[in-house]
Amino acid sequence: MPHTPQGDLDDAIASRAEELAELLSTTVRIPSVTGSERAIADWYAEWMIRHGWELELQPLDGTVFASGEETVGDRANLIGYPFGRPGPGTPVLVLNGHIDVVPTGREELWATVPFSGARAGGRVFGRGTVDMKGGIAAALIALDTLRNSEVVLPMVPVIHLVIGEETTGVGTRLALATERAPDAAIILEPTNNTIITACTGLQFFRVTARGRAAHSSAPWRGVDALARLLVLRDALIQTAARRSAAFAHPRFADVPTGIPFTIGMLEAGTYRAAVPDVATLTGRIGLRPGEDPDHARAEFAAALRAAVVADPFETEMPHELEWQGEPYPGWDTEENESLVVALRDALVMAQGSPEFGGFTAGNDAGQYAQAGAVTIVFGPGDAALAHTVEESISEADVLLATRTIVQTLVSLS
Ligand SMILES: [Zn+2]
Repeated sequence: MPHTPQGDLDDAIASRAEELAELLSTTVRIPSVTGSERAIADWYAEWMIRHGWELELQPLDGTVFASGEETVGDRANLIGYPFGRPGPGTPVLVLNGHIDVVPTGREELWATVPFSGARAGGRVFGRGTVDMKGGIAAALIALDTLRNSEVVLPMVPVIHLVIGEETTGVGTRLALATERAPDAAIILEPTNNTIITACTGLQFFRVTARGRAAHSSAPWRGVDALARLLVLRDALIQTAARRSAAFAHPRFADVPTGIPFTIGMLEAGTYRAAVPDVATLTGRIGLRPGEDPDHARAEFAAALRAAVVADPFETEMPHELEWQGEPYPGWDTEENESLVVALRDALVMAQGSPEFGGFTAGNDAGQYAQAGAVTIVFGPGDAALAHTVEESISEADVLLATRTIVQTLVSLS
């Protein structure tokens, strides 16, 4: 590398490669399954203090933010300010990483101990390596390297280390309710260092159909709730298919649909020799980038009403449609935004190949986009390994992400 400020930064990162891998390995050894994030938050807080950062622990508020949370107690976000708290009017860029991980599943299926953090063959192994302590490690070392340098940054970086992403997104909701909304945001989910500029949203739902139980020897005396539910199911599927057919977006051209619809559970009856008196299904609908969730919800609700308009039992036993939890909004960032351009150029400089993509999975990015931030998702690691018993990440990929984050923050305009 020539002796330039950027060459110096690259050298500084290269000299911290071992520290980076060890940081990741250490944090993987601290289990942080959703609901039990306090130990890892404290560890990151100590790391920030040791490196001279300002920080703030944000305990989960048991009243405003408790809805839908199985555990409230001892949980906290950690907001890190490597360059101090940004003053009013200063452009702010947030790096967001969730500190919770999904459960290990059956431990005997793992080739290594789930929280081993073992390093071998240039990889780090264990739950959370990919999703997403690898991205967090990259961001921490990137920000600390910038902090130690003479470089003046165009936007002040702040890191939001949040709880509860894997279940409800409560951590980011809390962070955005208490912190000023940033101008730009990078969500550090594993994208294999691909730049995600668009994400479709989702909303969970439950539909209930009622009936009247009857002995199976005289089913004509009952009203079959399952049969009624299946009519509603067809209406949902047709609505989703119609919405899919009308949705075209270049970032989702390579998948069958950008706005997936799934019914994940269906339950009916309580006994095999009786006509079921209640039947339910639960699932998720997809939301277009920028679509008002109310709009999509109204469309599905109208389709259900239309499907049962001729049903003689509907007045007596109306169906129920319930939207569960907060929607994950879809979003879309223009690819000529300076954040996208800076990230693309930084990837080239860090010897990565800039690739662009779209996401059909829910994550915290939508909350930043909705708050008005120019938002992208970018991080190291193969998302296909996340949530599996083979979760592991390449140390070289984490290092590449670290260099890319540094160069992006330097060259933002
Ligand atoms: Zn994740």
